[in-house]
Amino acid sequence: MKEDFYDILGISKNASTAEIKKAYRKKAIEYHPDKNPGDTVAEENFKKAAEAYEILSDPDKKARYDQYGHQAFEGGGFGGGGMNMDDIFSQFGDIFGGGFGGFGGFGGGSGRQRRSKGSNLRIRVRLTLEEIANGVEKKIKVKRKIQAPGTTYKTCSTCNGSGQVTRITNTILGRMQTASPCTTCGGAGQMIDYRPSDADAQGLKVSEETVSIKIPAGVEDGMQLKVSGKGNEAPGNGIAGDLIVAIEEQEHTELQREGNNLHYDLYISFSEAALGTSREIDTVSGKVRIKIEDGVQSGKILRLRGKGIPSLNGYGKGDLLVHVNVWTPKTLNKEQREFFEKMSKDDHFAPNPDSEEKSFFEKVKDMFS
Ligand SMILES: [Zn+2]
Repeated sequence: MKEDFYDILGISKNASTAEIKKAYRKKAIEYHPDKNPGDTVAEENFKKAAEAYEILSDPDKKARYDQYGHQAFEGGGFGGGGMNMDDIFSQFGDIFGGGFGGFGGFGGGSGRQRRSKGSNLRIRVRLTLEEIANGVEKKIKVKRKIQAPGTTYKTCSTCNGSGQVTRITNTILGRMQTASPCTTCGGAGQMIDYRPSDADAQGLKVSEETVSIKIPAGVEDGMQLKVSGKGNEAPGNGIAGDLIVAIEEQEHTELQREGNNLHYDLYISFSEAALGTSREIDTVSGKVRIKIEDGVQSGKILRLRGKGIPSLNGYGKGDLLVHVNVWTPKTLNKEQREFFEKMSKDDHFAPNPDSEEKSFFEKVKDMFS
């Protein structure tokens, strides 16, 4: 059961606007986190009071609350506990006047130092299908910003290296400590003491480096790999950015990729189809010789298991699907024409698919099942 907003502020339902405001000021002072460091109960009460005030100080919300209670705000965006500390402090301007204007970043007093991060670099790497199938280590030249040798840093004198400036202000809550990022050093806590002539204002310079990138087998066109810390360096004690590697897949002259499977179009002649043959074909792991049975039909698909692309997660490999196409000669000389004319009268050459011959569609269905 959610606590009544009037009870939280300790007022009656008939309280005037001025009374509501006064009650909230009192609670805010009592439970203010800077007066109760580390006290989670006080912080909870502080938030509750702020939430109650948020509703009761708004005539429209107050009317809805008076009529429907907490249900008025359920699922409507302003649910229970919907206020964070920043909301609460931004509300203070209305209640306490201008004195709280600079009160930013509650919790900022913990002495956390911001470390600046260098920017990311992006490069494209073009890979052959063979490289994708087997994985590859690429050495790529990258122009990245590095800390110029000889650059020295000194502790920021404004914030003494903490990256923050603390001020003691006298407010109606008493003496309050407020912290904000140091503007002199941008929160880094240090500044450049000396930089060589070839360094930029941040003490960085461009350097061409060879970065070795391990590319796992199974990557695809458009994928991005991240090499941590190989982007631009940051000044001082900052963290280097990342190198983002975009994969580009070079088209193979013979093989077409479809997911982890590969397709190969094999063309054989009439005679080879009738007599059977064997052929050497390209795969991503070198050439293999395949046997074509005599009497093979055009459209037959031979599946070479495991001759495709390995899956990126390391489990399993795709297949190589060899599509048999019987090539029809486009022109015939006199002698050949006579031969085929003679054959065309032979009943043996009339198409006669038996029930075992699958239609193209059944074959496709079979392949993907
Ligand atoms: Zn500073």
